[in-house]
Amino acid sequence: MFPGVSAIPTRRIPVVVTLLALLTLTACAVRPGHTTHARQITMAQPTPSAPVPTPSASPSASASPSASAKPAFKSLAWYVAQVPTFPEVPLPQPVALPATGSAPFWHRLPTDQKVAFITIDDGGLARPPGVIDFIWEARIPVTMFLNSPAAAEHTDYFRQIEAVGGIVENHTITHTSLAGRSYDYQKQEICGAADKLEGLFGKRPTLFRPPFGEHDSTTLQAAHDCGAKAVLHWTETVHEGKVRYQTPEKVVQPGDVLLMHFRPALMDDLLAALKAIHRAGLTPALLEQYVR
Ligand SMILES: [Zn+2]
Repeated sequence: MFPGVSAIPTRRIPVVVTLLALLTLTACAVRPGHTTHARQITMAQPTPSAPVPTPSASPSASASPSASAKPAFKSLAWYVAQVPTFPEVPLPQPVALPATGSAPFWHRLPTDQKVAFITIDDGGLARPPGVIDFIWEARIPVTMFLNSPAAAEHTDYFRQIEAVGGIVENHTITHTSLAGRSYDYQKQEICGAADKLEGLFGKRPTLFRPPFGEHDSTTLQAAHDCGAKAVLHWTETVHEGKVRYQTPEKVVQPGDVLLMHFRPALMDDLLAALKAIHRAGLTPALLEQYVR
């Protein structure tokens, strides 16, 4: 999995431990790049703004089959068992941000470090419950670009992903194409979503992804003015377990950004992304550790 990520030595964590850990994760629990930031488990009481995360229903995970028992096809244990073992996560070297008063637009992060980034968009269509445990047990670093109404309607789900390491970022309110629209329109879509997401999750988004990737210079200006440090496109899409490369290399490159969505096959998409990153000799890392 991700060597050095966790003080917990195995990904096959008994569900009791998982529950306890989920109940007590601290904010710095999610530092996949730091061996010194092992998950810290405390007995701190959850606050009203951060309700107690509960593991999703996953009977396959709660069972404790004998070591030789094969997990059922597409059970949580099966997904976790498919995840390859990754090279050591390098210590993140944050990328340089231009001081132009406008956000940079990147398909791929300008880094040579052997990492790639998993991003999950939208949030309104489907929210497979198994994803929460999968992210936790396989230590998958994910960034969620959410539409604010979906985040508002399904806040508990996204908070649970936050509790296991996910980060919420901004994907507008209405998911309309911004290119060619007025500054005021774009700012309303971007700042309006940022305000809402900040209210829901207690942290203002620092990254923005325009719907469909469609943007213009006004988008980058408005995103900057709404607090975004960078505007992210993607280099690969993942859908129904298949990775589609959008660059000539046809292999995941350092700094690549993989895009998937909250859709029914998200478990398969996460697994496919992990395998593609592994095939490229890279390790998944958290975008926010590189864009600070
Ligand atoms: Zn979208």
